[in-house]
Amino acid sequence: MFKKILVANRGEIALRIQRACRELGIKAVMVYSEADRDAKYVKLAEESVCIGPAASALSYLNMPALISAAEVTDAEAIHPGYGFLSENANFAERVEQSGFQFIGPTPESIRIMGDKVSAKQAMIKAGVPCVPGSEGELPDDAVQIRSIAKRIGYPVIIKAAGGGGGRGMRVVHTEAALINAVQMTKAEAGAAFSNPAVYMEKYLQNPRHIEIQILADKHKNAVYLGERDCSMQRRHQKILEEAPAPGIPRKLIEKIGERCVAACKKIGYRGAGTFEFLFENGEFYFIEMNTRVQVEHPVTEWITGVDIVKTQIMVAAGEKLPFTQKQIQISGHSIECRINAEDAYKFTPSPGRITMWHAPGGPGVRVDSHVYTNYFVPPNYDSMIGKIIVHGDTREQAMARMRTALAETLVEGINTNIPLHRELMVDAKFMLGGTNIHYLESWLEQHKR
Ligand code: ADP
Repeated sequence: MFKKILVANRGEIALRIQRACRELGIKAVMVYSEADRDAKYVKLAEESVCIGPAASALSYLNMPALISAAEVTDAEAIHPGYGFLSENANFAERVEQSGFQFIGPTPESIRIMGDKVSAKQAMIKAGVPCVPGSEGELPDDAVQIRSIAKRIGYPVIIKAAGGGGGRGMRVVHTEAALINAVQMTKAEAGAAFSNPAVYMEKYLQNPRHIEIQILADKHKNAVYLGERDCSMQRRHQKILEEAPAPGIPRKLIEKIGERCVAACKKIGYRGAGTFEFLFENGEFYFIEMNTRVQVEHPVTEWITGVDIVKTQIMVAAGEKLPFTQKQIQISGHSIECRINAEDAYKFTPSPGRITMWHAPGGPGVRVDSHVYTNYFVPPNYDSMIGKIIVHGDTREQAMARMRTALAETLVEGINTNIPLHRELMVDAKFMLGGTNIHYLESWLEQHKR
């Protein structure tokens, strides 16, 4: 097992990884930008290194700074967390070339899955069902693009091969709008992801977003840890997740879970990963794979009892998965609310000093957050300041616990989206379960203020 790991990230996930290291008896070296000097995990750290100024490009995305931080502290491995460099194959490669273990899949796996076109091709080969669409990247020729769209049938969605974070997508309803939409998405993709390649998919009208968590070791063992329902989204970004997904028969989950495990074995995948699907009319359609730990991993941890972050570290160190598929049992129901520093209904970011932070507690409540009273939320990064996760024997009990937890939570000095979560937790359709990916946007439209 490693003696020391460098945590190449910030915010709640940096704290989460630090906690996993403590439990495993591993020293965690924390890194921070000048804007994150006062973060909780830095204050708690035995060792920490300033890696640069506030701007991400100069700190959390600064590969040489991160690798030298690992060198000067004698760390043996680097955990990339999520976001930043976590899905950057070049970073994974440089980490390994510098003699450190990258806590994640191989650079080759990241490269294949990081390009959504090659990821889909690999999945089709591995027998995972995909959204019908263009076979590969769209050509430049307008006539050919029109004929692909005609074959797929409108509406279609144009997506950037290198896209992520809900960006680089455009829905097209008519042929008249097609070519312009392709050109605009290409231009945006080139600027945002340095890769102008785009592809086309059938735009599914009322799907749910269902994803399968997997874990694999270096000895060809892989398991799936059930599913998560992440359909509550705004602008293709998740705000609330739950597990299991309400109303989907276990048989269907088992079938798709087994396909994902088979695909992992086929591509030699190792570490934690998520297969994301759209689910419509009883069918799963693969959209992409995330080759890292995800924000919503705690709901899976709670219903399976598996510590995903600890297992990531153990398999990176070469250990075998400590459980088999048969030993993975789903128990109860878990919900996560992402707490963002933003206006609850207008969504304008709200960085600044938190003058009062009171986190909820009690049975079945977990809070993952790096903030505290008098902490200053820097304006430079993602607006998420923490997550409230609950567990109950049933979905009803989990919702009741989340309502209590949200009622107990006090954040002053900045705006948060807690009022929105409080309303959603008593929304009749959400309470019924199984709302689709458009539900939140239409709810917001109806509840405009
Ligand atoms: P990203 O990598 O940016 O998260 P994804 O491919 O995972 O992009 O898609 C994000 C979200 O966009 C999905 O959860 C879904 O809400 C929507 N979406 C993506 N592809 C389609 C599609 N073919 N039809 C309908 N919605 C889609």
